Amino acid sequence: MQHINHFINGEFVSAVDGKSFEKRSPVDRRLIAQVSEGGKVDVDRAVHAARAALNGEWGAFTMEQRVEILYGVADEITRRFDDFVEAEMADTGQPKSIMTHAFIPRGAANFKIFADVIKNVPNESFQTTTPDGLGALNYAIRVPKGVVGVVSPWNAPFLLMTWKVGPALACGNTVVVKPSEETPLTTTLLGEVMNKVGVPKGVFNVVHGFGPDSAGEYLTHHPKVDAITFTGETTTGAAIMKAASEGMRDVSFELGGKNAGIVFADSDFDKAVDGIYKSSFLNSGQVCLGTERVYVERPIFDKFVEALKKKVEKVRHGRPDDENCNFGPMISHEHQAKVLSYYAKAVEEGATVVTGGGVPSIPEELKEGAWVEPTIWTGLAEDATVMKEEIFGPCCHIAPFDDEQQVINWANDTEYGLSTTVWTRDLSRAHRVAAKINVGITWINSWFLRDLRTAFGGSKQSGIGREGGVHSLEFYTETRNVCVKL
Ligand code: NAD
Repeated sequence: MQHINHFINGEFVSAVDGKSFEKRSPVDRRLIAQVSEGGKVDVDRAVHAARAALNGEWGAFTMEQRVEILYGVADEITRRFDDFVEAEMADTGQPKSIMTHAFIPRGAANFKIFADVIKNVPNESFQTTTPDGLGALNYAIRVPKGVVGVVSPWNAPFLLMTWKVGPALACGNTVVVKPSEETPLTTTLLGEVMNKVGVPKGVFNVVHGFGPDSAGEYLTHHPKVDAITFTGETTTGAAIMKAASEGMRDVSFELGGKNAGIVFADSDFDKAVDGIYKSSFLNSGQVCLGTERVYVERPIFDKFVEALKKKVEKVRHGRPDDENCNFGPMISHEHQAKVLSYYAKAVEEGATVVTGGGVPSIPEELKEGAWVEPTIWTGLAEDATVMKEEIFGPCCHIAPFDDEQQVINWANDTEYGLSTTVWTRDLSRAHRVAAKINVGITWINSWFLRDLRTAFGGSKQSGIGREGGVHSLEFYTETRNVCVKL
């Protein structure tokens, strides 16, 4: 069992009042770590350290120095790859392959890509005509926003946290991160990396704790935090937006989803089944971009349901480092209970359970873990609760459709608007459908294929703003215009 402390002003420190909480493994409930719980004083110390760094050494860094040091951060993450993989597996209980192929490499990439972006992006300039004929030159400069509060979730903890810290630091800000209480380990390890590569004290700070009446609330209400970037549930986003309105702080929100997957009869069948399998069940369905509503064109509906069922029934639950296993638990018992309550609700609302629907049989030593079965339903009405609310578990409902406009209407009939995946060989149709679905990201014949230069974010209740590539600069910098009369 380890002790996980805050990382404030370049030092690992326990909570001022000595409070801590337990982090238990989602796999078997064993105690992994005792984690310091941040109170108002801890948050205040972190914010002041961040402010001092901004006004000190870090603020005086040139852009080239920042770029160099962020490359160093990426390289050090890669050098300590195994430590990050171990820590993220312990926190999430998800299979090693997701860590090694996605979560940890993406964490390193998040520092490199934004170092490249800041180095290469031009600022706008305008030659302006004036009545005297001599003209004026307008040009923009970008300055950091200041101290950025980063509040991050548990489902892909390192990837999602660095997705914000990378651009924030590239742009010259300093940060105070409040990672999810469920996944404190990799954010803490990043503190060691920052010290190792010489990131000045106070640039990167971490305060652990919960949301309401804890570090999350104190950080987002702190008057010296200049902007808040948040990934998590839509209801949490609403609470943070209220906090941000005190002092008119800018927000960037990446929130929940209830994403549709659309499979046309002319699609490459095997690729579509594989793609929907991944989009519904990767990371045990705990992916914001995941597909909980699948629509399949009627001629291939039965065959598709059968093929997906077969794939799902092959999953092997177990420990993340067990190479014979490929399916992890829910992040916590609380989340397990939430997912199981939707499983019960689906049946109550008249669903046919194609497969799953409960808790899997599991070896004795893992019985205490937060396991649920991957589940497929058919037969629900479009207005059923399970079709409307984000479950965030390994489950999907599959419905047949008969025409393009009908399926577009169904896909759009949600308060969310994060992503969608469309499977067809007819490219005209693919482009047409993509343009009509109200989401931030549409994948055609793929899912979760990310180019970090592209705009990422949600429509409707799935988010505010776009991050990625130059779009991140819009949030993490302030543009100032300078007008020179010639
Ligand atoms: P959550 O909203 O419960 O928690 C996220 C973070 O907010 C945690 O660090 C938590 O401690 C903190 N928090 C909670 N209440 C707070 C408050 N009142 N004030 C300040 N901070 C508070 O979300 P979660 O359960 O950790 O993550 C799952 C959710 O995240 C899902 O809805 C998922 O769709 C969403 N998500 C979205 C994206 C995206 O890019 N759109 C990516 C990943 C996850």
